[in-house]
Amino acid sequence: MSGLLEEKCTTKDFGIGVTLGTGSFGRVRFATHRKSGRPCAIKMLKKAAIIRFQQVEHIMSEKEILIEMSKDPHPFVVNLMTTFNDEKYIYMVLDYIIGGEFFTHLRNAGTFNSETASFYAAQVVLVFESLHCKDIIYRDLKPENLLLDRTGYLKITDFGFAKKIDFKTFTLCGTPEYIAPEVLLNKGHGKGVDWWTLGILIYEMLAGEPPFVDLEPMGIYQKILSEKLSFPKGYDKAAKSLTKKLLTHDLTRRFGCLKNGTRDIKRSKWYANSDFKWKQLERRELEAPIKIEVSDDSDTSLFEDYPDSDDEGDGDFIKHDPFYNF
Ligand code: AMP
Repeated sequence: MSGLLEEKCTTKDFGIGVTLGTGSFGRVRFATHRKSGRPCAIKMLKKAAIIRFQQVEHIMSEKEILIEMSKDPHPFVVNLMTTFNDEKYIYMVLDYIIGGEFFTHLRNAGTFNSETASFYAAQVVLVFESLHCKDIIYRDLKPENLLLDRTGYLKITDFGFAKKIDFKTFTLCGTPEYIAPEVLLNKGHGKGVDWWTLGILIYEMLAGEPPFVDLEPMGIYQKILSEKLSFPKGYDKAAKSLTKKLLTHDLTRRFGCLKNGTRDIKRSKWYANSDFKWKQLERRELEAPIKIEVSDDSDTSLFEDYPDSDDEGDGDFIKHDPFYNF
């Protein structure tokens, strides 16, 4: 299902159910659009918290980018149905992606074999290719921001850090384990950050943990900048070569950002050796390695349980509401 709803909604138009996940400014809840019966996920964000943490621009940009994407839907990007706001919250209504977080599936499995990892990494390649064509950088790839649909294919979600760029941008954002060196060094960063994060994701799928880990973010940053990268025994040889090409500090040598663009990745041995079917993947014709078992369209059993919200009633008064038109 895709496409924006025509009419403006309020919370009364939805039957709101359990919490599917939480973020910094609110939570995402399962809901049913009463008129159509369509299952959805409503991202509810507290206006006061967004303002306090100076995230107004990020949220506006997330909405704009999701609207742009919904006009030209990508098979592996979550679809925005509508947005609205009330006194305290803004709401982004998304198609409900039933298979749960990729993170949960990866943690349950420990590691993925090379075939499974290449299947999922390839979908991220296609999403980045499409976003970069529109001059959008995603900037927040991690297993928590990838969901699995009923067919076991990916949907990328959370465009809170995504940004439409002219050339380079300077904001520090992302998750410590996935931050690219040029972001840490505040050198300005562009599309290359997404290719770095793809390298981290491939490593995490095959090794079971990211390559740069530490109890403290500062320790992680030091390891990222040290340029030392080691691989566990048994890490697929062709995957290792591609991972190194993505986790390259020198932007003039990092795969994804060179003159051949994504062709360097698609022709790398990891994909070429298995004669990977890119076109069939895009048409969703390949069989997904992860099977999603659910009872019906509104099954939420693949998401973790969250205690009920305790933040209702916390009414910060907002003098100048930047979201009155959201
Ligand atoms: P976000 O704030 O966008 O990162 O979302 C927080 C969490 O809510 C995600 O990690 C998912 O567990 C859940 N979530 C977000 N969007 C959806 C969706 N469209 N369908 C199902 N669950 C979602």
